[in-house]
Amino acid sequence: MNINTSISEFSRAKQHIASGVNSPVRAFKNVNSSPIFVKSAKGAYITDVDDSKYIDFVCSWGPMILGHAHERVTEAVKKAAERGTSYGAPTIQESEMAEQINKMMPNIELVRMVNSGTEATMSAIRLARAYTKRDMFIKFEGCYHGHGDSFLIKAGSGAITLGLPDSPGVTKGTAKDTLIATYNDAQSVKKLFEQYPNQIAAVIVEPVGGNMGVVTPKNDFLKQLREITNQNNALLIFDEVITGFRIAKGGAAEYFGVKPDLVTLGKIIGGGLPVGAYGGKREIMNMIAPDGPVYQAGTLSGNPLAMAAGLETLKIIDEDPDFYNKLNKKADFLVEGFSNNAKQAGIDVAVNRCGSMMTFFFNSLKEINNYNDAIKSDTKLYAKYFLNMINQGIWIAPSQFECTFVSAAQTFDDLQKAVDANAKALKLIK
Ligand SMILES: *Cc1c(COP(=O)(O)O)cnc(C)c1O
Repeated sequence: MNINTSISEFSRAKQHIASGVNSPVRAFKNVNSSPIFVKSAKGAYITDVDDSKYIDFVCSWGPMILGHAHERVTEAVKKAAERGTSYGAPTIQESEMAEQINKMMPNIELVRMVNSGTEATMSAIRLARAYTKRDMFIKFEGCYHGHGDSFLIKAGSGAITLGLPDSPGVTKGTAKDTLIATYNDAQSVKKLFEQYPNQIAAVIVEPVGGNMGVVTPKNDFLKQLREITNQNNALLIFDEVITGFRIAKGGAAEYFGVKPDLVTLGKIIGGGLPVGAYGGKREIMNMIAPDGPVYQAGTLSGNPLAMAAGLETLKIIDEDPDFYNKLNKKADFLVEGFSNNAKQAGIDVAVNRCGSMMTFFFNSLKEINNYNDAIKSDTKLYAKYFLNMINQGIWIAPSQFECTFVSAAQTFDDLQKAVDANAKALKLIK
């Protein structure tokens, strides 16, 4: 595939953008390729600046669950833009958004809109600390909660891909309050509570790991986290920035039947615009300023364009009682096709999947249950696979440790093309 324009545009970008990209994983650094610059996207397809077309399985890292430039979402954004792009004062649309969130996720009694997932998790931890009057919190190795200082310790996403799980610039003082446990190992959480009695404010978890590749919670792991946090008067925070509106209308809380105290949201809730949110129990959320003492603010929070795109996206999902069934059937098709191809090619893959989010790990382990399992994957083989898929017009993540997402815009014809491309790619890379 000819990516000449992308290559020259990357040189240009590097002149004045740090590393040439505005988010690390976009640099395609670990897959031996120059990043592909996008010109436009519509439905299931992305078109690059050299006019090649791809079927998109990255979906902007999750948000584009309806596909790109959905007519209703685009129309809602256009109309909002005509009414003005920001006022710095409340709007009716923000209440409509909050009501829609509460309708789909009833345990979010009160919500605050912010501008990214990073802001959501930072604010949720601040609130948890204030509420419990404790400083420490527990996160899991390989989970990613945005780039707030206290989360950049054994973090997933680009941090794994680039081998930078601990970032310089995070002070020792900050890092000492972040405790690390092992995903799918409730015992590792219990031990930390024993070691630091009455000092741990919260446990924050991706209810389905999505940033070390997909890692699903096993054996009542989430229920156990609920019990342990209850026993220790600590809060349970579900970081549903990926899983929220992805695995069910009510996210992981509905899917797994476990009620967290606080939930963080992002990605789908913005319909492709920069949005995040955090919310939960009224009693806790009441501590936020100005009614409460915990400060958190945002010049552009609840932005009219972002509310329009997000609200329309949530409504489209909510209106269709069969939305997740249809999405899951597509995911079934992809998983079955890819798994059969791998068997035929004689390549070891471990497939992890929850609803329409999945990862095909090039890994000889049968099950990937945590970070240590995930990093045993053959990333060199993945890089070859990635280039083969891209060359066949299938847009997948330029990293082994990310999700493959199915979108409502993809047809079974698109999926069949991906399965065929996958078969070819697996044969070629062996
Ligand atoms: C993407 C992500 C974030 C960060 O969201 P941004 O909008 O990129 O700041 C936080 N948590 C999880 C689970 C994510 O996947």
